[in-house]
Amino acid sequence: LDRKDFSLYASAITKWIADYFQQLEQLPVKSAVKPGEIYQQIPAHIPAEGEPIPDMLKDLSDIILPGITHWQHPNFHAYFPANSSVESVYAEMLTAALGVQGMIWETSPAAAELEERMMEWLRDAMGLPSNWEGVIQDTASSATLVALLTAREKATDFQSNETGTPGHLRVYCSTQTHSSIEKGVKIAGIGRRNLIKIPVDEQLAMQAEALEAQIRADLQAGLQPCCVVSAIGTTGTLAVDPIKEISRICQEYDIWHHVDAAYAGSALLLPEYQWMGEGIAQADSFVFNPHKWLFTNFDCTAYYVKDPGILVRTLDILPEYLRTATRGQVNDYRDWGIPLGRRFRALKLWFVMRSYGLNGMQEKLRHHIQLNRAFAEGVEQHADFELLMPPFLNATCFRYAPQGLPPQYLDELNESLLQRVNSSGEAYLTHTKIGNTYTLRMVIGQTYVEERHVKKTWALLQGLAEQCKKGAHT
Ligand code: PLP
Repeated sequence: LDRKDFSLYASAITKWIADYFQQLEQLPVKSAVKPGEIYQQIPAHIPAEGEPIPDMLKDLSDIILPGITHWQHPNFHAYFPANSSVESVYAEMLTAALGVQGMIWETSPAAAELEERMMEWLRDAMGLPSNWEGVIQDTASSATLVALLTAREKATDFQSNETGTPGHLRVYCSTQTHSSIEKGVKIAGIGRRNLIKIPVDEQLAMQAEALEAQIRADLQAGLQPCCVVSAIGTTGTLAVDPIKEISRICQEYDIWHHVDAAYAGSALLLPEYQWMGEGIAQADSFVFNPHKWLFTNFDCTAYYVKDPGILVRTLDILPEYLRTATRGQVNDYRDWGIPLGRRFRALKLWFVMRSYGLNGMQEKLRHHIQLNRAFAEGVEQHADFELLMPPFLNATCFRYAPQGLPPQYLDELNESLLQRVNSSGEAYLTHTKIGNTYTLRMVIGQTYVEERHVKKTWALLQGLAEQCKKGAHT
């Protein structure tokens, strides 16, 4: 195909997308294919001659679609939202057409400057300090790695980049924080055994006193505390760590404080949830994912730092071919993250934020929170179900606990309930463990989810729970 032929199939493709959106609710939420089933249907070699686009669209429907788990299905309640929107899809199409590689300002000034502005829009709307600067990263995992590297360099007077990471650095997070922190300390050369997991309280939030005691003990032992990663919204239960107290401790002991709000950060757009970020102005860096709960399709992570100078000093490289006359006057984002090459992700944020407006985004977030409250009420009022944590934001942790069934059977019963729900194709939920208790999680964050979808999942859960109970008795 030549570029001038673009419109030949463009409408067939947009029609495919529009039809997909139309039929999405009728598709099984979780793909039921067996391992290898898709792979076996794809030829082993590149076709020698080019094939027609309509054949590919047919194979997309016949071969690929059955192997897709539909994250945009309104009854997708698993893991965390990775939602999208019509606006975001439009912008992705345009991004692909422009094909920008925004490694430095000169390789597309508009990409760099729109990114700078979009990060300011979000920063200000979320109540983050107005002197912080933001950059778009691919994932929260990369952003947290960047934070750990920056913390490492600061703690070692920028010597680790030169001579390697010393073995006595310490990083702290709670027992509930995301696995990306563990991965980050491995990659940063800090070492997993130097990641100390601080105990949590009943709300599963980090115990600040335990953190401080651990830091003191480490200092006495000649170790060097380097970074604390706290969470606004852990993945399992959306627990919020005491940011203010952790910031105070970090300031007192001169430790980098990185806040991981990958999932729940969007709620900072709501004045009624601003309390979650109290004390954040004293932290050093912050990450949240518009690609989770802000209608912007994967990937798009917003990473903020108080002092971009330290970040750039940690990551900058300057091969001859990247020397430009504008260096120093503009943001060359290649020095703000891991990869050199960068997608033009700001465009989709621009489309989403302009089309929704702040009010529109707030309305959607509040709607999801409200739907979650209603779901949790149903659970609470049902004699055979129980809440395992108070519902928070758009997630509820609960289990099926039919009266009269001995507690030792409950984990197995809930595992089998989850399996039935997910293999029904009608909804998709996942689990976590709270202590040793097998816990079901209901997450309500798909962009277009409505009350009827949540009611449908709740009815499904109740119906299949009855079946499981009968199964348990026989
Ligand atoms: N942090 C938290 C709290 C998360 O919930 C997640 C995703 O589940 C991550 C980090 C990792 O996000 P990403 O996939 O963008 O690396």
